[in-house]
Amino acid sequence: MSGIYIHIPFCKQACHYCDFHFSTNMGKKEAMVLALIKELELRKDEFKEEVVQTIYLGGGTPSVLNTAEIDQIIEAVYSNYTVLGAPEITLEANPDDLSKEKIEELAKSPINRLSIGIQSFFEEDLKMMNRAHNSKEAEDCIVLAKNYFDNISIDLIYGIPGMNNDRWISNIEKALDYGVPHISSYALTVEPKTALKAFIDKGLIPTVDDELAEVHFHILVEKLEAAGFINYEISNFGKPGYFSRNNTAYWQGKKYLGIGPSAHSYDVIRRGWNINNNAKYIKAIAQNELPIEVEVLSKTDRYNEYIMTGLRTIWGVSLERIKTEFGQKFYAYLAQQAHKKIEDGLLYIEKDHLLVSKKGKFLSDGIAADLFLVNLS
Ligand code: SF4
Repeated sequence: MSGIYIHIPFCKQACHYCDFHFSTNMGKKEAMVLALIKELELRKDEFKEEVVQTIYLGGGTPSVLNTAEIDQIIEAVYSNYTVLGAPEITLEANPDDLSKEKIEELAKSPINRLSIGIQSFFEEDLKMMNRAHNSKEAEDCIVLAKNYFDNISIDLIYGIPGMNNDRWISNIEKALDYGVPHISSYALTVEPKTALKAFIDKGLIPTVDDELAEVHFHILVEKLEAAGFINYEISNFGKPGYFSRNNTAYWQGKKYLGIGPSAHSYDVIRRGWNINNNAKYIKAIAQNELPIEVEVLSKTDRYNEYIMTGLRTIWGVSLERIKTEFGQKFYAYLAQQAHKKIEDGLLYIEKDHLLVSKKGKFLSDGIAADLFLVNLS
């Protein structure tokens, strides 16, 4: 089982915090759709033994495509790959694109899961982040989408400068009131070369406060778990039956094909990444060339990756898998590195799996980094 990720590299405007690959110039949108379809054709042999169980249109902002374009892309997946009978097909969408007409059209397309970039229900936060939508659109689109889609996820950002605990709690409570079955929630991070970083450096916006983010994270976990959500990955919460199949496969180390500029691919042995330039991507594909760089993952790379993704999920790291797939040297190293963290109550072992405790959850990336290997192979 495997997944196909398709990157739609266009956005209406640049959010201040974003370092994903996208362009606000829609001039190449039609050429891009044709290039994506052609890349799907060019790479079909890479997946000839695979059954595709998830298709994910991410970005950028996939909802800037019209439904005919979305249908053409999904059709290209079906005509070049073997697709499971009932695949999960997700579209990332922004509230300002989700008019009643658009949602009605999407409901008639093969899309069966919407991931909506709400980020906050409050005008102050949306303005500060330079989101393209307002708070009314954030609320209205969920009400509308619920009439047509059962499987809806929303994104929320916490730790925003100026966002006090009460405002964060209101955001969570609104999400719960709307009854969405899945929430992805990330701390605002300050990436290099973003407008947010420049504003903070100039003193125009207060810096992001890690302690505030940690408080918000614990509020989030407490409130969502009390409402029946399972925190199945550090930043993801789903009601039973509504975990993202696409992301779960990714965290469990399954193969995926990344189509489009900047998209990453993984086949268990190698990782590839497409060029992150729209014009160069379109030109290469038109010449039947794949604008991709590939690296072969060493055993150490694969171990580090498994530790990082495993510790972020409720499935943890299988000690049996470490022994059988990586060998005794890796197992001994992990046992030695994990020992202190277990004593400190940050990690624990249950049913032969290494897991992050409640106390360690917010720190899981740092804990994982301490378990990484640098040069064993
Ligand atoms: S809509 Fe998403 S991809 Fe586009 S700029 Fe904003 S955060 Fe980045």
